[in-house]
Amino acid sequence: MKIKQYFRPTKAIIDLQAIKQNVINLKKHLQPNVQIIAVVKANAYGHGDLAVADAALKAGATMLAVATPDEALHIRAHFSEPDILVLGSSPVSFAPYAAQQRITLTVFSSEWVNEADEYVTNEENFLRLHIKVDSGMGRLGVRTEEELLNLYHGIHAAKNFQLDGIFTHFATADDEDNEYFESQAQFFERFVSLLPEKPRLVHASNTASSLIKDERLQFDAVRYGISMYGLSPSPYVKGLLPFALSPAFSLESELVHVKQLKAGESVGYGATFVAPTDMWVGTIPIGYADGVIRKLGGQEVLIDGQRMPLIGRICMDQCMVALPKTYAIGERVTLLGRQEQAEISVDEWANKLQTINYEVPCIITARVPRIYI
Ligand SMILES: *Cc1c(COP(=O)(O)O)cnc(C)c1O
Repeated sequence: MKIKQYFRPTKAIIDLQAIKQNVINLKKHLQPNVQIIAVVKANAYGHGDLAVADAALKAGATMLAVATPDEALHIRAHFSEPDILVLGSSPVSFAPYAAQQRITLTVFSSEWVNEADEYVTNEENFLRLHIKVDSGMGRLGVRTEEELLNLYHGIHAAKNFQLDGIFTHFATADDEDNEYFESQAQFFERFVSLLPEKPRLVHASNTASSLIKDERLQFDAVRYGISMYGLSPSPYVKGLLPFALSPAFSLESELVHVKQLKAGESVGYGATFVAPTDMWVGTIPIGYADGVIRKLGGQEVLIDGQRMPLIGRICMDQCMVALPKTYAIGERVTLLGRQEQAEISVDEWANKLQTINYEVPCIITARVPRIYI
């Protein structure tokens, strides 16, 4: 494979071995015959959809899931074999493409089925569908028995459709409180039992549910996302993990300029940082256009195995770091990941940004090349 050459030293390093190990560990944890659907939506949570899909399939996943039709097409263009499920809604106009490319769609309305039936005319290509049940997430899915049965019969009446699965999604699987979770589980189980015939794949569990909740909810398959990337769905789940997770995402750059400031000299837009004493300052070629957003001002980075703080405002393409001494140009800077014993975790950034770890690799923009090891 031709490797593209990058001249800027800023890159995201993706550890595919870590992803494989996380999938292998999950597989051991699941009941026998439960399949793993690897969730690679949003460019595999920012890690790179093609490389992650390949690693997950090699480690034992049997199906891929994405959020959008376009994500599915991108993966299908590179992988002809695996089943790909679009978890989100698809426009009716996508139905013939999905049939032709063997992409499985999520459905939750019989109107959609009736309209799409007009579009899918080639009888060689069945369109495979999974019914989505809204058991309490309030996002997508059938909510009443009537909607469910209308949809079920609509799919069976359509010329070229095949019901391949039924699924739901939990709103509180990563929570200690089990009450809402169980009410969703029972709602879904009841809906599955209403079907005249059970489709091939019944699935409900995301990472949190598959790791810490009742094994009966593994059904035929689990949809494994965040933990494949080595991150915990929540601090509560982190305390209960049945096996250690290996984080796959690191963010690295290098010092491209090092200088000494005199006391009283300033750094960055607005001249907000003023050197309290003579000090060494390094410039790192990464900024908010790369996803190192301005809210990360003051965040520490790793250089020479030690934590050092960003100073001044983060610029679009660069930021500055306070150094305890001079360093050579080209000195490695780790914004996320490990250097020797020190680590800056995705969770640390999530705390600083008052968000969840899921969001962190997703905000690292496409300008940052993903390099696979
Ligand atoms: C994103 C998503 C998942 C994966 O959830 P994780 O918590 O990352 O494991 C599973 N199912 C659906 C419907 C999703 O949208």
